[in-house]
Amino acid sequence: MPSYTPPTRDMQFLMHDLLKVSQSDVAGYDELAPDFTAAVLEEAGKLASELLSPLNPVGDRQGCSFENGVVRTPEGFKDAFDTLRAGGWTALDLPEEYGGQNMPVLLGTAVGEMFSAANQSFTMYNGLTHGAASAILAHGSEAQKATYLPKMATCDWTGTMNLTEPHCGTDLGLLRTRAEPQEDGSYKITGQKIFISSGEHDMAENIIHLVLARIPGGPEGIKGISLFIVPKFLVNDDGSLGERNAVSCGKIEEKMGIHGNSTCVMDYDGATGWLLGERDKGMRAMFTMMNEARLGVGMQGLAQAEIAYQNALAYARERLQGRAVTGAANPDGPADPLIVHPDIRRMLLDQKIFVEGGRALLFWGAEMIDRAHRMEDAEADGLISLLTPVIKGFLTDQGFEMTVLAQQVYGGHGYIEEWGMSQFVRDARIAMIYEGANGIQALDLVGRKLAQDSGKHVMAFFGIVKRFIKENEGNATLEKDFLDPLKEASKQLQSAGMFFMQHGMKNPDAALAGSYDFMHLFGHVCLGLMWSKMALAAQQALENGASDTTFYEAKLMTGRYYMARRLPATAMHLRRIESGADPVMGLKAELF
Ligand SMILES: Cc1cc2nc3c(=O)[nH]c(=O)nc-3n(C[C@H](O)[C@H](O)[C@H](O)COP(=O)(O)OP(=O)(O)OC[C@H]3O[C@@H](n4cnc5c(N)ncnc54)[C@H](O)[C@@H]3O)c2cc1C
Repeated sequence: MPSYTPPTRDMQFLMHDLLKVSQSDVAGYDELAPDFTAAVLEEAGKLASELLSPLNPVGDRQGCSFENGVVRTPEGFKDAFDTLRAGGWTALDLPEEYGGQNMPVLLGTAVGEMFSAANQSFTMYNGLTHGAASAILAHGSEAQKATYLPKMATCDWTGTMNLTEPHCGTDLGLLRTRAEPQEDGSYKITGQKIFISSGEHDMAENIIHLVLARIPGGPEGIKGISLFIVPKFLVNDDGSLGERNAVSCGKIEEKMGIHGNSTCVMDYDGATGWLLGERDKGMRAMFTMMNEARLGVGMQGLAQAEIAYQNALAYARERLQGRAVTGAANPDGPADPLIVHPDIRRMLLDQKIFVEGGRALLFWGAEMIDRAHRMEDAEADGLISLLTPVIKGFLTDQGFEMTVLAQQVYGGHGYIEEWGMSQFVRDARIAMIYEGANGIQALDLVGRKLAQDSGKHVMAFFGIVKRFIKENEGNATLEKDFLDPLKEASKQLQSAGMFFMQHGMKNPDAALAGSYDFMHLFGHVCLGLMWSKMALAAQQALENGASDTTFYEAKLMTGRYYMARRLPATAMHLRRIESGADPVMGLKAELF
């Protein structure tokens, strides 16, 4: 059975050595003293490793069940949810006035990563509720906020997002669910939604569905879509639960992974709903939820890679097979542990650099959100908007790849269910698909985000890289191993952007054929920047006489591996991008 050790040491390094949170100007960060964050992370880590992680294989084996419209979650899920509720873990970063704890998103992200690594299916019930609550907070009326948010903060009522229909997932302009206006200001919602995560279950008193639907007479396509609040149980004026609404679960899906999370067909048969935000501006309101969810899904990719890596590492230390080619490392035993073999080390290091580098990127992203929300910092807001598709697409693609590598370290045992590695691979796979499949993230990045505000945000990103390199010129520890490769990779990213500018207008296929490579090129440059910054932080800690020298020395060594072995992927991505549209579009569809 796999185990999970909360990576609290690494998280403390990121918050205090890298982001230096307690010296930051972000409002509320002065409360994040090392002792305080250590206490929160330790407590959350305990819940992750002792409560949620043991339930992960249970959820995988049992899955959810569906009988007469009722969905039951796996054994132990409901009690665990009650424990999180009782401890106030369900709304760390929501405002205090609505029952949250008003903590920075950064701390919520650290806790979320641990819960998600320990049990992705379980954590989705809370994660979707948080996303729905954020959308209500941003777009709801005062009455809507007062009615729904306190109950959603405690997860007594959970939330969902309802976009997908049988005939449309990516192209939501095709959606058919209708919302008929009623005299009392409510709407009757009719239609079918599919693949709705946490759509029906037995862990909460009420479920608040956020549903995209079309008000008759509005514009065609994406411009005529509005967002509605549709509760499973209608809420009386005094806040108590009233009648059952006309929304029901038609079935739950059998699927490859995340068996503990119910994926539901939801039927709306004239269900009562209320407009959230402005009429016909539903996509904008839903994007509040989707942007948050996209970062959350990026986190899922990272989290599954982390737990898979931890277990692969433990296995590689214990499993005895073959001898080190340079001489026996375990002469008294029948063979050496797997970790002596260069190819096993390659796989473990690929995982280690990804989880540590990806976590740095995720935390940096969380800091940008705090900066944008708490300081109304427009630059941070623009930068996180640019980086959201990179964080979602790159971290989930690479996260999945790393779970496969972790499985590979186990050889045949990785393929056998008993060892639990297969679940990580299966659970990680969905993150590449939902919240906008990764191809759509790449399209969003190249087609929309790059040129947003006349390219201001991508220029800001290049400015950050350039400044970092300049400020550290002449630093012998960094220059050759970190700054030179970062400079080269960043130039390649700029060249790719130039290629799109020169060719994309004439032939949009030339840009879109390279969009996926661009997303990965961008992701690598982000990780190159993160590793360079972490190397500097480690160097400074060592120079300042930190006691934990092995931790910081390992950071520097690990970073060198990233810069030497993974970052050069940028050259390949640029070559592919510069090959343009022809290799991809030349072959006629009938010749495939
Ligand atoms: C387990 C699970 C949970 C889910 N949870 C939810 C949920 O809670 N709420 C919800 O609303 N939905 C949910 N979904 C739906 C999910 O978000 C969609 O499946 C996803 O957005 C893709 O839509 P689709 O399946 O219709 O694929 P399609 O839209 O048919 O796309 C198929 C493929 O074509 C690609 N593609 C489509 N258009 C283009 C284009 N213009 N250019 C390039 N490539 C393109 C896509 O990237 C994809 O690879 C869930 C799905 C699953 C499997």
